[in-house]
Amino acid sequence: MLELTTPVQYVKGIGPKLAEILATKGIATVGDLLNYLPFRYEDRLNPRGIAELRAGEMATVIGEVRNSGLFRTRRMPIFQLTVGQGRSRLKCLWFNATYLQDKFKPGQLIALYGKVEQDSHSGELQIIQPQFEMLGDAEGNGADDKAATSLEVGRIVPIYESAGQGRVTARWFRRVIRTALDDLTPDLAETIPGAVRGRLALVSPREALWKVHWPEAGESFEDLQSSRTPAHIRLIFEELFFVELGLELKRRQQKAQTGIAFQLDDRVRQAIKKILPFHPTAAQKRVLKEIADDMQKPHPMRRLLQGDVGSGKTIIGFQAGIIAIENGYQVALMAPTEILAQQHYFSARRILENAGYRIVLLTGSLEADRKREIRRHIAQGNAQLVIGTHALLEERVEFAKPGLVIVDEQHRFGVLQRLKLMKKSGEGNDDKNPAEPDVLVMTATPIPRTLALTLYGDLDLSVLDELPPGRTPIVTRRITDDRSPEVWDFVRKQVAKGHQVYVVYPVIAENEETELKAAVKMCRELSGKVFADLKVGLLHGRLDAELKDQVMRMFQKGELQILVATTVIEVGVDVLNATVMVIEHAERFGLAQLHQLRGRIGRGAAKSYCILMTGGKVTEEGERRLDAMVRTNDGFQIAELDLELRGPGEFFGTRQAGMPSFRVANLIRDRQLLELAKREAAAVMEGPNSEITQVEISRALVALRMRWPRSYGLVEVG
Ligand code: ADP
Ligand code: MG
Repeated sequence: MLELTTPVQYVKGIGPKLAEILATKGIATVGDLLNYLPFRYEDRLNPRGIAELRAGEMATVIGEVRNSGLFRTRRMPIFQLTVGQGRSRLKCLWFNATYLQDKFKPGQLIALYGKVEQDSHSGELQIIQPQFEMLGDAEGNGADDKAATSLEVGRIVPIYESAGQGRVTARWFRRVIRTALDDLTPDLAETIPGAVRGRLALVSPREALWKVHWPEAGESFEDLQSSRTPAHIRLIFEELFFVELGLELKRRQQKAQTGIAFQLDDRVRQAIKKILPFHPTAAQKRVLKEIADDMQKPHPMRRLLQGDVGSGKTIIGFQAGIIAIENGYQVALMAPTEILAQQHYFSARRILENAGYRIVLLTGSLEADRKREIRRHIAQGNAQLVIGTHALLEERVEFAKPGLVIVDEQHRFGVLQRLKLMKKSGEGNDDKNPAEPDVLVMTATPIPRTLALTLYGDLDLSVLDELPPGRTPIVTRRITDDRSPEVWDFVRKQVAKGHQVYVVYPVIAENEETELKAAVKMCRELSGKVFADLKVGLLHGRLDAELKDQVMRMFQKGELQILVATTVIEVGVDVLNATVMVIEHAERFGLAQLHQLRGRIGRGAAKSYCILMTGGKVTEEGERRLDAMVRTNDGFQIAELDLELRGPGEFFGTRQAGMPSFRVANLIRDRQLLELAKREAAAVMEGPNSEITQVEISRALVALRMRWPRSYGLVEVG
């Protein structure tokens, strides 16, 4: 009898070699194997008759091989196969497929799956490059054995992703998974707490595993393909439930730590109000209240503030900072780039220095002496607001009285920056168990709520869902780059009106050298020829910090009219007078990136324009990205589409940085189940103690550890 924990080698038909291949797919135990779900199903119970096929449909066809052969065209060899059912025939083609020669024998039974198309010459129906599986000859011989054939026709058949460069095929998976199910212990333990199971009417684990691999004839084919059968739901829910339970446990542990209970009396309230250069929006007021409420509690705040570009997060950060400073604590504000750190520094001085707050800027590019001096100010408690880049994090800056950490534009850090950044200095400090500082993370990446709560598992969430008044929506246009003269004319007109313009070039790491050259060359072209009479600056990541700083400052002051740049300006830079964003080779940028870039304009009252120039062929996905940009300015809509196009891993830019990986769940497809799992996990934790057992707790912690190998969010998974 196999248990879920039994190593896969004990399943009949799996030797050490195959076990090794399976290990590369993360399959080590019988449980792993059984949770290796089909990525689609073929309806071979009701396969399509060739005579009833229609052009344009995806179809499974089972037929007999009639003949096959390779013919060579001028451009490439093409392999052609004809399958038949009685008198009907269907042609299949594979390009460049010399490897298929001699693979098919007349009379063999074969299952094909692909898109039916009409040949433009002959008008006949055909399938190009179908997926196929040999089933033996029409009598059931020829396949490895008859039992195998019975798993492959006359039913709904599971199709698995193959492994080991095709050495382990879908057919093979079908057979070993079937064997494992046959030999699986009959009393498979239920893992989900009874109360939850009852509420959701989940099927048993055994039934779920059987039916997800071997659906019954009556199962809805659509539900199968979309992973929405009761069997799928049970398995997906189970996985998500234990992750959410683990997160809930962690969140509670976090909340139980000692934090600082900041006072929010009238004096502090006055101080917060005094600095405001404008009337806050209703959303800003609400979010500040959420933050202030947290800060007053005796437990550390861990809050994520989401707000689209331009929604006004900075001022909220400053206000939270004042609460801490007025209580006698220090504040650290971290930005992802030097330019942004500098920009925050300037706005902080503009907004806060009049009120007498002491602000310092600490970045990696400062001279060693200067750094040392600033660090001394921080360690002695003279500096109240410390603004910096990663340097703050990496160089272990010591604070006299750390109170609040603000992390701006978190998406640029990746999800997982461990925040050990606020170290307390040794000077005059003898309490052994210092209170944890509060943490506020600000991001312009809009993420659907449940996803955010899972990905930033231990953070509470605030959303700034309103733009400050007086903004005119940005107009976005697409244009091919052969029409650039028109674009430059337009730019010139805007400059004549006193506005400023960004022109952005793609520089992607792989092609950095050549693309950087192109950007530099283009800048020369623009500054030397097209706009010879205007002031044009160049900004890219390779410039040394001082020069970068100088260029940015000149643009901010209006001394440059056009800024040619790479994506270094992507985040946060705030120049109200800039009204045009020209993006060259827009098809090469990601959607989130385009949206961030566009967020650099439309910050003032004047009408702003984003011009997406494309050069060369645009892929289908590229089309969708550009379309979305033209269609909407709404960051949440853009994010949803981006998530769909790229998947969560790339969306968050943390592919290697420890994005959670799920076995059967898919965070996007299963968003609703995630929401449900989260609710149920919270309900179980709220319920009487008897509802949650030690076994469940350890299962939840294992679930976390498995998916976030090192850590997640801001908390170490121990
Ligand atoms: P982001 O959320 O992208 O960081 P910022 O904090 O940089 O946005 O704010 C964008 C611009 O809007 C800034 O120039 C800021 O001064 C301005 N702003 C923010 N809040 C308001 C408001 N309530 N009324 C008017 N202008 C505001
Ligand atoms: Mg910002």
